[in-house]
Amino acid sequence: MNTAKKDIRKLSQEELETYFNSIGEKTFRAKQVYEWLWKKNAHQFDDMTNLSKSLRETLGEQFMIQPVEVDLLQKSNDGTIKNAVKLHDGNIVESVLIPTDNRTTACVSSQVGCSLDCTFCATARLKRMRNLTAAEIVDQVVIIDEESKRYFNRPLSNIVFMGMGEPLLNYNEVISAIKKITTDEGLGMSPRRITLSTSGIPKMIEKLADEDLKIKLAVSLHAAREEVRNLIMPFSVKFPLSELAQSLEYWYAKTKSKVTFEYIVWNGINDKKEDVEALVKFCKRIPSKVNIIEYNAIDDGQYQQASEKAMNLYIDTLEKNNIVVNVRRSRGKDIDAACGQLANKSIE
Ligand code: SAH
Repeated sequence: MNTAKKDIRKLSQEELETYFNSIGEKTFRAKQVYEWLWKKNAHQFDDMTNLSKSLRETLGEQFMIQPVEVDLLQKSNDGTIKNAVKLHDGNIVESVLIPTDNRTTACVSSQVGCSLDCTFCATARLKRMRNLTAAEIVDQVVIIDEESKRYFNRPLSNIVFMGMGEPLLNYNEVISAIKKITTDEGLGMSPRRITLSTSGIPKMIEKLADEDLKIKLAVSLHAAREEVRNLIMPFSVKFPLSELAQSLEYWYAKTKSKVTFEYIVWNGINDKKEDVEALVKFCKRIPSKVNIIEYNAIDDGQYQQASEKAMNLYIDTLEKNNIVVNVRRSRGKDIDAACGQLANKSIE
């Protein structure tokens, strides 16, 4: 009966084993099906050619597979590709393929909308509708891998959780997706090529550190002075910088992996000497580097990118203090695919 069908990709390999045993099948069937689902990305039971026809039919009667589909593909003149990805319930998320000379990075979404309220981010204006499932996250990766092969003749090399949503507020599904992307029964990618970016939820950062996943962590810091951060990222009132710093110290102690701070410098917001000094002090507590990212204006003109002079003050001061700093230029701006611009505009 259709209504009783379960999404088979919600089952772990162990749960598949239990299922196959319950219908009198051998345990190894679970591994076969798991690999069809997560390594070979089968979207139909009929593709699972090492199962008998009757077993494929049984699976089809009891389960369903709900792949996402690309609703709209937009190409930027710098090579960036943005996919509007339609989920089975009609919700849309965006994911971005970012090509550089020697790599292709997939920027994937973890939630439909976002529950955080960063005042400079377009995604924050969409309310959080729901969390994505692990399968919906992995599907975005697979789509971008296929696009990378098709348009750039090479497979996907890196993944960043920097699309829509806060990955640490969809913790279980994000971790499950990362495991499926990295295990041999799944896509088999190196976890070192995955970066999870968070707005900074201290308890969840500690929990992530305990997972020992060998992924990289980025934190959207943008201000190291409490009053400034609370103004631009109001949710952070609940998570003081002291707690964030402690959680990052814990992260480093556990993983020995440096944290990347993402940082935008705005005119009149965080462009003063005391802002720079606060950042230096914060960075000295935690083994880290800083990525200064370009601000992508999102309509109302409330914020403006700081002057060259203010940017240089940041760069010079950080370098003088032996803190690694990179300046990241935006990609895909012409199609609203750059950081903070993902807001499902093309489908309104
Ligand atoms: N919620 C997570 C994942 C989203 S990553 C996080 O905040 O880290 C998206 C990145 O783009 C974050 O670093 C965010 O601070 C940044 N961003 C948001 N709005 C932006 C804008 N208008 N211009 C440039 N970067 C922006």
